[in-house]
Amino acid sequence: METASFTLSIIVPMYNEGKNISLFYEKITKVLEHHDYNYEIICINDGSKDDTMERLRLLANYDKRIKVIDLSRNFGKEIAMSAGLKYSKSDIVIPIDADLQDPPEVIPLLIEKWEEGYDVVYATRLKRDGETWFKKATAHTFYRVIGKMTRFDIPADTGDFRLMTRQVVEALNLLPEQHRFMKGLFSWVGYNQTSVEYYREPRYAGKSSFNYWKLWNFAIEGITSFSFAPLQFATYLGLLIAVLSLLYATYLVIITATLGNPVPGYPSLMVAILFFGGVQLITLGVIGEYIGRIYNESKRRPLFLVKEELNIIDEEESVELRMINK
Ligand code: UDP
Ligand code: MG
Repeated sequence: METASFTLSIIVPMYNEGKNISLFYEKITKVLEHHDYNYEIICINDGSKDDTMERLRLLANYDKRIKVIDLSRNFGKEIAMSAGLKYSKSDIVIPIDADLQDPPEVIPLLIEKWEEGYDVVYATRLKRDGETWFKKATAHTFYRVIGKMTRFDIPADTGDFRLMTRQVVEALNLLPEQHRFMKGLFSWVGYNQTSVEYYREPRYAGKSSFNYWKLWNFAIEGITSFSFAPLQFATYLGLLIAVLSLLYATYLVIITATLGNPVPGYPSLMVAILFFGGVQLITLGVIGEYIGRIYNESKRRPLFLVKEELNIIDEEESVELRMINK
């Protein structure tokens, strides 16, 4: 087979993936070499506490196509991935998880679709092994809810595993926000999108860093990043309650006028006070979620800080290298 005429960047955010790196490297290299792609693998060490960085160092020494970015601390997957996108210079870019849940064998399928003329080819999961029904159900509900709240579709059962062209990556790199709900941003940028389906494997080694509390926050992040429906909901809830209380007030006036006033109503008073107290605190909380995000964005801090780079050559040089490779 002839060497492919395009360059490919694989982006791998890694947090405590020491146990997965060797097998991941072995599997993905096998696929990429088999197809003779012109590729680089950008690994982002997201402040791992295990031996991830040491292992990456060894790999980078041995294989120059492994580029490593060592972040100064744990910034979270979304930001680690954004860092990878900023560093990639290739024609097409594919983020993938290091735990082998996204099978490297799907990469050639993504590329085939891209060759048909799509700008984004996302991989949709058909099966979720090793995940509880509760996680599946909550994930399902989340996609439906967010789908209703936004103007664009965030495809269900789709992670960050996808192919993007340079144009799409440049568009993503333009987005300055600190709160990066990547699944949403991927859809927000638009372009010609399509999907391929695959079976999602259980994690190879180690533990998923996502627990339900994190997932809940992830869901809130998704919703607040792309919609002010919760704020509007507060408005309508307020309106509804105002109308209901007006009706109740009318009823009270009529009752008092016709039947006199025997001063009942301690329970209804308590219920009303507690209910409105609750509603007010919740709406305040919703507003708080948005204000907190405005606060974070307004600080304009850099998205991430890099401690060390391995095998990253500056732009000019890598352009030259690409010319030679072609
Ligand atoms: N990850 C990361 N930073 C984090 C958490 C996770 O870079 O703070 C990486 C992790 O190493 C893996 C990918 O993101 O490559 C997906 O993480 P995980 O398997 O924990 O998530 P799940 O598959 O359960 O959604
Ligand atoms: Mg995983």
